[in-house]
Amino acid sequence: MKGNFPVTALENIETPFYYYNIPLLRETLGVVTHEAGKYNYHVHYAVKANANSRILSVICENGIGADCVSGGEIKAALKAGFSADKIVYAGVGKSDWEIDLGLDTDIFCFNVESIPELNVINERASIKNKIAPVALRLNPNVDAHTHHYITTGLNENKFGINLIHLEGVLDHLSGLKNVKLVGLHFHIGSQITDMDAFKSLCVRINEIQETLYRRHIIVDIINVGGGLGVDYENPDRQPIPEFKSYFEVFYRHLKLRPKQQLHFELGRSLVCQCGSLMTKVLYVKEGVNKKFVIVDAGMTDLIRPALYQAYHKIENLSSEGPVREYDVVGPICESSDCFGKCVSLNETKRGDLIALRSAGAYGEIMASRYNCRELPKVRYSDDI
Ligand SMILES: *Cc1c(COP(=O)(O)O)cnc(C)c1O
Repeated sequence: MKGNFPVTALENIETPFYYYNIPLLRETLGVVTHEAGKYNYHVHYAVKANANSRILSVICENGIGADCVSGGEIKAALKAGFSADKIVYAGVGKSDWEIDLGLDTDIFCFNVESIPELNVINERASIKNKIAPVALRLNPNVDAHTHHYITTGLNENKFGINLIHLEGVLDHLSGLKNVKLVGLHFHIGSQITDMDAFKSLCVRINEIQETLYRRHIIVDIINVGGGLGVDYENPDRQPIPEFKSYFEVFYRHLKLRPKQQLHFELGRSLVCQCGSLMTKVLYVKEGVNKKFVIVDAGMTDLIRPALYQAYHKIENLSSEGPVREYDVVGPICESSDCFGKCVSLNETKRGDLIALRSAGAYGEIMASRYNCRELPKVRYSDDI
């Protein structure tokens, strides 16, 4: 064992592969459902973080709903056992077949991002003689202070409806017969660790609710999206995110009307710490001023460092040797195929097993076959 890893067993498995710690996943889900349950809040899992079928079924067993951003995700969620009445569906560009799938399976709600989309949902629903439940995805213009690629709540962003257009959208909605406004939806970004960003969101939602109230509109559902961050620097110090203080922020600052239900769409915070990407050292190469550790996993297996300059803690599970500094890189023919610069690792040699930690979210699901590589394999702690 090194950390929580059964190293000897893992060293015998062909790399690269994702390793999922299922007990940690269950424990995380236990905490989130307990903390949300205190206030009767509803949690949906953002399937896009990780759609691995085993992970989906464990999440589904815990009574959590699903948040989907494509028809493919709706299918994956239904197949894993999520009931349609707990599925919400968001996305700026929903195709007709995807809208039809949502209507045919009677999902809980469409999170709608524009007037043209409202029109199409109305039209598809009228063909089927149905009323589509919709929530308007509003852009609250709250800065989540996170990486600009994962900030979504600012004005100049492709997501959501700008607040200055809200009145017009409401006027338009009242003329549509086959959609029903059931909620308001927000999502300000991802990997947010500053609770003040969520507090700002609450304050903004309170203001918006006042505006709607003046028009005698009270929606049934407020959906505040996801975005709670995790501790990438030190995954063992805080394997389970601060769900308690997260939900408390909403309880303290968000004014819900009587009977209004609060919904969340958490992705990363539910699955991130339960996954690691396991890879072996192919070569240790001497550069001019540094040493490179070349591993058999690359950006095709875990793209976050290349795509968002994301940090993943890297550990050598096979060595207890003195700590040295290395650049850890993959085999892909791209300079951005680098997992970390000046990484402190126990002295490393060919064949050592390396763990890239906190890879349970936006890892396996983003893998590609670039360079004609195989998709990474998967192993679960339960089976080892
Ligand atoms: C990505 C996304 C989420 C989940 O975000 P996390 O940061 O993984 O919690 C929730 N809602 C919507 C609309 C999203 O696009």
